[in-house]
Amino acid sequence: MPELPEVQTVVDTLRPVLLGASIVALHLHRQDIVSPQGTDLSRCCTGRSIHAIGRRGKRIVITLDDSNAFYIHLGMTGRLCLTRHDEPLPPHTHMVLTVLPDNRSGKQCLVRFTDPRRFGGIWWMGDTPCDEKMGPEPLGMTPRRLARQLSKTRRIIKSALLDQRVIAGLGNIYVDEALHRAHLHPERISAELTLPEVARLNRSIKLVLRRALRHKGSTLRDYVDAHGQPGDFTRLHRVYDRTGQPCLTCRTAIQRLVLGGRSTHFCPRCQTV
Ligand SMILES: [Zn+2]
Repeated sequence: MPELPEVQTVVDTLRPVLLGASIVALHLHRQDIVSPQGTDLSRCCTGRSIHAIGRRGKRIVITLDDSNAFYIHLGMTGRLCLTRHDEPLPPHTHMVLTVLPDNRSGKQCLVRFTDPRRFGGIWWMGDTPCDEKMGPEPLGMTPRRLARQLSKTRRIIKSALLDQRVIAGLGNIYVDEALHRAHLHPERISAELTLPEVARLNRSIKLVLRRALRHKGSTLRDYVDAHGQPGDFTRLHRVYDRTGQPCLTCRTAIQRLVLGGRSTHFCPRCQTV
């Protein structure tokens, strides 16, 4: 599932085309990918221009020139790709956005939203801000803020870090990678971490995310950026999807556990309980 680095990469690759662009048309191939039900997304968007495109957590937020906004969640298999007019539509295309970029080229561009498994979708927000229940962004996080977020829960740290209300944007890959870097066992109780441990975790989360951003994310199966390019961080994973392979720090075999229904990869020697 695309996490913060992948979603940010999609935003960064869409921005040069979409920022300031006029929306010529928005065509939905299925209505049920739009929430709330009954929203006429095409009518809300057509004729407007795009004032901003950004990321909040794992959401791609598009703000129009009338201050209304909507966001797209890529779910498990969602892709937003820029294409030309004459390219055939791939299967599972649910939405096609036609824009006239603000670059005097006079050439229209298409953005296609495809999502075979349909865990993603489009949410119309209108002029209300993004979900206030969502936790703080990790790249701007201080150790004290993270400690405060984690002190509220007795859940294991792996589950707490996946909870978007605790911290926004992390998923299975980067939680496993950050816990390994921080030498923390995924089953540690969140509220029992010491402040130095939380500070180490905070640094590890930022380091892993920044490196992944530089490599344009991780592609396991489906993820690509808006130009159709896969991410390159996968080969730098230290634990994720490396079960049985030697830990890059101590050579112990990486183990896999299922915690809270999610596969979890860790080094039993570097990450002590
Ligand atoms: Zn190790």
